[in-house]
This record gives sequence, C-alpha cells and structure tokens, in this order.
Amino acid sequence: MPIRLVVTDMDNTLYSWVDYIVPAVEAMVDAVVRATGFQRIKVVQSLKAVYTKYESNEYPFALQESSLFTEFPEFGSFDKLVIEPARMAFAEARRKYLKPYKTVVDTLGTLKERRVPVVALTDAPKNPAEQRIKRMGLDQLLTAVYTMPGFTFPAGPDGEALVAPDILQKEVKGEYRASCPVIELPREFEKPNVAGLKKILQTYGVQPKDVLVVGDSVKKDVAIAQELGCLDVFAEYGTYVSVEYRERLDIISSNAITRRHAASVYESGQQQVTPSRRISNYGQILELLG
Ligand SMILES: [Mg+2]
Repeated sequence: MPIRLVVTDMDNTLYSWVDYIVPAVEAMVDAVVRATGFQRIKVVQSLKAVYTKYESNEYPFALQESSLFTEFPEFGSFDKLVIEPARMAFAEARRKYLKPYKTVVDTLGTLKERRVPVVALTDAPKNPAEQRIKRMGLDQLLTAVYTMPGFTFPAGPDGEALVAPDILQKEVKGEYRASCPVIELPREFEKPNVAGLKKILQTYGVQPKDVLVVGDSVKKDVAIAQELGCLDVFAEYGTYVSVEYRERLDIISSNAITRRHAASVYESGQQQVTPSRRISNYGQILELLG
C-alpha cells in the first residue's frame, strides 16, 4: 500500500525546538537584565507570567505585556531601551540554533519530487510556527501547515498598538507570511484530539491506511495515527533532550507550554500506546512509503 500523504509534527520532529528555545529565551533575558538593571529572577518571573497566560514562550510581545513595562513611563522609550536589544538577542540565538535535523531538508525534497504531499500538524500557535518554517525554508517544501490559533498585537488602554512601527509595517506588507498555506485550527483540536488529522485527511481526500503520520510524541502523534488507522511512525530521536537542557527549560518555560511543543520531554517509561515504527532519523520515513 503506497503512502499518498505524509502528516508530520514540527517541534522536535523537523528540528529541535528545545535546542533553540532555551538559548534564545536566555539570551533575551540577559539582554533585558543588561538594559534595565533588574534582577534576573524578576525578569524571568515576569516573562514567565506572560508566557503562561498565552501558553507559549514565543509570545513575541511578552515584554510589553509584562510587569516590567509598568516601571517605564511610556512605550517609545521602553521599546528602544529594552525590547529592541531583547529582540536582537533572541533573533541572533535563533539564527544560530534553529536548524532542521540533518536529513529533514533532503527527505522533504525527495518527497516533493515523488509528489507525496507533506502536511505539518503542530500544536504551536500560528505566528511562531509560521516564522520557524519560513526561517528554515521549510515552507518551500511543505504542502501546508495546520496550527493552533495565532496571537494578535497587544494594545494599550487607549487602543494604541504596543508594537514597534517596523513590526506593524512588516505585518501589513505580509513579510511574516510563509509561502505555503498556514491554517489555524480551533484550540480544542490540540493533539491528541484526532480532529485536526481528520480534517487533513478529508481535505486531501485520502484513506487513513494511505497516510503516514510521524512525530516525536507517543501520546500525541502516535496516538492520533493509531486511533484513525494511519501508519504511525515514532520520531524517537526528538525525545533525546539532555538533563541540562531540561533543567534550563524548566526555569524559563512552564510545564504546560513545554508539553505543547515538546510533549515527549515528559513522556518516559511505560506508555499506554506502543508505536508501530520507530525511526532514528527523519530520512527513514522514505523506507516506509511502500
Ligand atoms: Mg513535537
């Protein structure tokens, strides 16, 4: 039975989300500490509070919504003195550490040549998910991306946008848009709900048995594949996170957020679900196409 559609998870399946988010948020925190002179613990706690509210530590407007902002007289100076250096620090770390796993680009290229559509299904919110695939050029290789709902720009009490003018302009010009369609699913479609996968199968008009689902979470990716009768492939390599990174992640990220991006970080020992196939690099899905 040849596979007609591949549905792929993103975080810790196509690239290591953990290896990028830890140094990027830490670099941002350091930049804020340097700019404000506030204690590190205070900066971390105020950011973590905003992240928790938005259930994402990639919420790009965390600083202007944090309690740190209340200590500045107005947005303009806070934006210049604090946000800008923090954005730069985050972006520099992202450039350095956000990379696809070794065989991912080649594998997606081969699938494209073979005309097997590859649709990403992620529990990340739209904005950071779209940014990540665009920055790594994966939007050229993926057929479509299904995400959780995105964020909107924060506004002050008078309705004025609390966002740097260049960000607003880029948004208007569509510079944050990926080249493939990015579709927001309702919040309650978060995996292990099978509704997102079901919608993809309907959209592409394929039977579950002709679909390969790959991901690093047994509880989410493997579970939804098995529930609908797709071929489930466990990207086991995505679960290898060092104790050191786990500890650093716990400081900057609440468990609920980490679970959304890299659920497998907390999955260990006995599982209710047993994966049908395990792979140690992404390229091995090519051997399973039939
Ligand atoms: Mg994942």
